[in-house]
Amino acid sequence: MIAKAVDVTNHSRISELGQRVLAGGTVARPEAQWLFELESAADIFDLIAWANRIREHFKGNKIHLCSIVNAKAGACSENCSFCAQSSFHQTGSPKYGFIDPEPVVEAADEANKNQVTAVGLVAAWKGLKEGPMLDEVCDRIRELAKTGKTRPDASLGIIKSQAVADRLKEAGLECYGHNLESSKRFFPSHCSSHTYEDRIETIGYLKKAGLKICSGGIIGMGETRDDRCDLAFSLKEIGANVVPINILNPIKGTPFENVTPLPPLEILKTIACFRFILPRQEIMIAGGRTVNLRDMQSMVFSAGASALMVGNYLTTLNQSVEKDLQMLKDLGLDPNWDSHDFADQADAPSFSAASPAFDEAAATTFA
Ligand code: SF4
Repeated sequence: MIAKAVDVTNHSRISELGQRVLAGGTVARPEAQWLFELESAADIFDLIAWANRIREHFKGNKIHLCSIVNAKAGACSENCSFCAQSSFHQTGSPKYGFIDPEPVVEAADEANKNQVTAVGLVAAWKGLKEGPMLDEVCDRIRELAKTGKTRPDASLGIIKSQAVADRLKEAGLECYGHNLESSKRFFPSHCSSHTYEDRIETIGYLKKAGLKICSGGIIGMGETRDDRCDLAFSLKEIGANVVPINILNPIKGTPFENVTPLPPLEILKTIACFRFILPRQEIMIAGGRTVNLRDMQSMVFSAGASALMVGNYLTTLNQSVEKDLQMLKDLGLDPNWDSHDFADQADAPSFSAASPAFDEAAATTFA
């Protein structure tokens, strides 16, 4: 056996930061960066224990479940390097046009049966503009809302006008998924067909329309810890209500097919750091959890996660919803929300549609 000296000063500093967040305080950027750089397992488990306390303090034992419907699959015009649905990559991923009402209503029934709070319609395209497609999307949202069985959400790409965001809101949409994906610095390393600024601008229109924001990113694409820290602070600044953390599942045929996976402890540490930075947000573990965390996936809640994407992902399989529900039950966690309007969260005051990144006059339509 090789005994290792454990640095108790790290233990004290992690505790101090954890107590501060529990008391309603915040961690500064350099302090968060220090947390992201923790290396020893002893320190990471200290951090995880505090992230768990913070989650329990702000969220109790409630876990928010979301599911998605792939409303339009494949043949996307964008070149995101992680994505099986890009027309730039040969992945064999399914391709079909915008879905009919039946699968949407079925998804609402299924969600209701499985105590899932929200169903999101997700479309593989650059974005949405005014026209017949928007009319059809609004019909599907109305049908989903009319079931009364789930919160109607959607993730429909980049929006370039306030009118589109307003139409979605009027149709009954409550929350829009639009990931920042990574730090502003790293973004061009995984996408060159649109920009980080396009995404920030879209979020500005959505917020102005009164929609809640689901925005997070993907870790394990080759970004640095500094990039992950920047992403968390950007999500805080835009006032994301739900923060999905996806872990790259390298898909054969994509430029990222050979990227080395992150070690499970690095993933859990990242989730814990996000909980320190975003104590009141729903931190949701989404794509890539089963393949990357394997037996350790139930630890995401101890690391601070308060939400889970259940059911299959857009192009990859997940473990069954029954297995996820059993996992929550075994952990003493409860997916039952009578309603969820994010009233326990304070919106970030520093970001608004009037921020420098949001310039309606400069917004142009896209093909
Ligand atoms: S991530 Fe979205 S925008 Fe990018 S290629 Fe995939 S479907 Fe298209």
